[in-house]
Amino acid sequence: MGIAHRRGYTHPMDLIALAVPFFLLSIAIEWSWGRWCGRDTYRLTDAVSSLTLGGLSQARRFVALGVGGAVYAWLASATPFTTWTTEGWQAWLIAFVLYDLCYYCSHRAGHEVKLFWAAHVVHHQSEDYNLSTALRQTSSGFLFGWIFYTPLFFIGVPAEMMVTVGALNLIYQFWVHIYQFWVHTEHVGELGWFEYVFVSPSNHRVHHARNACYLDRNYGGVFIVWDRLFGSYQRELPSEPCVYGITKPIRSWSPLEAWLHVYRDMVSDMWRTRSWSDRLRVPFSHPAWQPSDLVAAAEPVTGEPFEKYDPQVSRVRKTSGTINLILITLLLVAAQQSQLVQGYEAYAWGMMLWLGVSNAALLSNYDSAWFRLQDVLKLLVLCALAAQLSTATALVVIPLALIGTLWQWFEREQEVARATS
Ligand SMILES: [Zn+2]
Ligand SMILES: [Zn+2]
Repeated sequence: MGIAHRRGYTHPMDLIALAVPFFLLSIAIEWSWGRWCGRDTYRLTDAVSSLTLGGLSQARRFVALGVGGAVYAWLASATPFTTWTTEGWQAWLIAFVLYDLCYYCSHRAGHEVKLFWAAHVVHHQSEDYNLSTALRQTSSGFLFGWIFYTPLFFIGVPAEMMVTVGALNLIYQFWVHIYQFWVHTEHVGELGWFEYVFVSPSNHRVHHARNACYLDRNYGGVFIVWDRLFGSYQRELPSEPCVYGITKPIRSWSPLEAWLHVYRDMVSDMWRTRSWSDRLRVPFSHPAWQPSDLVAAAEPVTGEPFEKYDPQVSRVRKTSGTINLILITLLLVAAQQSQLVQGYEAYAWGMMLWLGVSNAALLSNYDSAWFRLQDVLKLLVLCALAAQLSTATALVVIPLALIGTLWQWFEREQEVARATS
């Protein structure tokens, strides 16, 4: 596992981290609007979980090199098919549209093939639908996602468009993140002609719904035209309000559970089935498929009526949970911006993960001696790391971390006092 070499130029994905204030402000506006018109689409716990996963997906590049980048560089030098010119905006526009078609294929495979679903599922676990859901992104998409864009090399898209700094794939990935951000809202209805050409709030709501008639529909990235062409389009029906989430809910806020549950189920099915052909079929099957000798034991997939995972937590825990999310965001921004010795970014990623996992336990009302011990250790390690990153980071992070932790202890003391009085 190597540290990514990112120095010397601004990676377009770093721009996404720079857009953090824009994202947070938009979320604040959507939340206030919802409160004002009596249709609040946020739950703090769910939003914290989504934003934690989003931060971790951005920081993921600190700890692993992109597999795709290496393959692209090799393909660029090995393929003799270059026939296009990079001159003029027309070539870039056509390449952008073709790239969007590859995105469609990649996204469709991400829903219809278990191995790819295991990575993409993270984006779909939220049981709410709001701007924070947009930022809920996988951390393991880099493993196989690049495969779907390699055909571009074979139809003559110039290597310069694919592998250089500011290349098409980076521009597209940046653009699709920004574009898809605004469609994750319940406050915008159908948009007339727009629904025929572009991905919209209405048609993307269908994509996130777990209703039987909405499953595996509307895979488009920027253009919805591909779904209309390839028969995967479904309009949002007034008679069928969207119910969000996945058909096998994870019922946890933990990033580890979010990342790993489909991989774990996949390995478990491959281990338990007695049929060798089924064993080989599992990773390439539809996510709903199971080996025939395991089907009887499986739980029903869509139990109705559906109830959201929603443990009720005290106001103190919610405040501490929010502080932990702020710390995760600060670590991400500090590590992206810091001019320090290479290597600290990986520690920042580890710290973000620790905060995320511990925060998930906090927001699920978990408590034990072990939990308190890790809380103290976490506080010490976090303060030491913040001091290493920069004085400014330390001055913000240390007081926040202290407030977040001490507040919970104060609450526990009060609970004990109440219980004994
Ligand atoms: Zn999807
Ligand atoms: Zn989405």
